[in-house]
Order: sequence, then structure tokens, then C-alpha cells
Amino acid sequence: MSISHNLQAISQTIPTGIRLIAVSKTRTEAEIMEAYAIGQRDFGENKPQELVAKAQSLPPDIRWHLIGHLQTNKVKMVLPYVHLIHAVDSLRLLSQINKEAVLLGKQIDCLLQFHIAREESKFGLTIDEAIEILHSEDYKSMDHIRICGVMGMATFTSNQELIRQEFKSLQSHFIELKQTYFPKADYFAEISMGMSDDYRIAIEEGSSMVRVGSAIFGVR
Ligand SMILES: *Cc1c(COP(=O)(O)O)cnc(C)c1O
Repeated sequence: MSISHNLQAISQTIPTGIRLIAVSKTRTEAEIMEAYAIGQRDFGENKPQELVAKAQSLPPDIRWHLIGHLQTNKVKMVLPYVHLIHAVDSLRLLSQINKEAVLLGKQIDCLLQFHIAREESKFGLTIDEAIEILHSEDYKSMDHIRICGVMGMATFTSNQELIRQEFKSLQSHFIELKQTYFPKADYFAEISMGMSDDYRIAIEEGSSMVRVGSAIFGVR
């Protein structure tokens, strides 16, 4: 199946109002342009260097999503090109993003990444850690970042019920933060969850953006 065929087939199953991010990590520029040609504009990369290189040579109206772990020493290079940073998992990283955003004169949109999977290896905050960040004086003084919601990755498993429970927990974290810290903030509206194998469950559990790679571009 071709990239454009896959993309069209998936797009048709995604309800309006939910954003499909085509995860283009490891893919060539030609492959990305095949998706671009039929209207795809949101692309996800997990490595800052790769995002920057592609952003510099591909059309400027692409919205680049950084979906992978971000190290503080890579913040500066990626900020000029990034539309949304999905995986903020510490106050230290948030501070660095704000600091570089001030220098750049650009407001940066971020999501807080939660650890919802059983796997130890995955990154992300607990709800208590997220609350600690939002309560900190440090966070309150940051005027160049906007937290737009939450992101998470389910356990890599065939157990659909477990995946569903994990997505439910992410949605409940979103609701708790929304009610307590962002009740009047229209921009706090995003739940980034769902990948090729589980985006249908994620949509049923309230996802607002799904990150789909191999189902569009083929196996990596
Ligand atoms: C690679 C990746 C995806 C896409 O994974 P597929 O299984 O290829 O759809 C989604 N989210 C993150 C954070 C990723 O690293």
C-alpha cells in the first residue's frame, strides 16, 4: 500500500476535531512529501536534530511536533522550528524551554508527558509531580510557555483492556489539571495519545491528537 493510500484510509476513520500527526521519524523527505502532497501538514519527529534538518529543507507550512524525549541541551536548536513539544517531563526542562523562548521572542506550546505504562523504561510524570511543577514559583514566573495539555504512551502489549485503562488514566489526569489549574484556558485542550496499534482505543478514550507512524509509512 502507498503512503497516500494509507494516509487517506486512516484520515477517513478519524473524527473531525481530532488531529492526525503523521510520525515521520526515520522517513525520507520524499516519503514525507508524498503525505504532504495530499494535504497532511502535521508531522511528528522524536529527535531534535532530525526535526531541524527536515524543517530546514521541507515546506514552511508544515507543523513539526517533537514527540520524543528532549534533553535540555537540545532545546535551543529545536525551538525555532517546533510547533508543539509533546514530551515535557520535568521542571528543569520547562525552565530551559522558557529561557530559550524568551531569547527567541517566541511563545512555545508544550504538553506534559505522563507515565501511564507499566514499563519502567518509558518517560513521564506522575500526577503528583505534575502538580508540583504547576505549583512552583518557577513555573508561575514563566511567561513564554503555554501548557496545552497532556501526552502519554500506553504499554506495548496486545492486552487491549490494559491499554484502555492507561488511556483512561491519562484522560483523568487531563481533567484534574484542567479543572484545577486551567479552567478558563481554552488552549489547555489537548490529549496526545494513540499510535498505529492503539489509536482507535485512544480516540474512544478522548484523544485529541493521535501520533501515527508505521500505519501510514509502513514498518520502520
Ligand atoms: C514512533 C512514535 C510514535 C508512532 O509509532 P507507530 O507505532 O509507528 O505509529 C508515536 N509516538 C511516539 C512518542 C513515538 O516515538
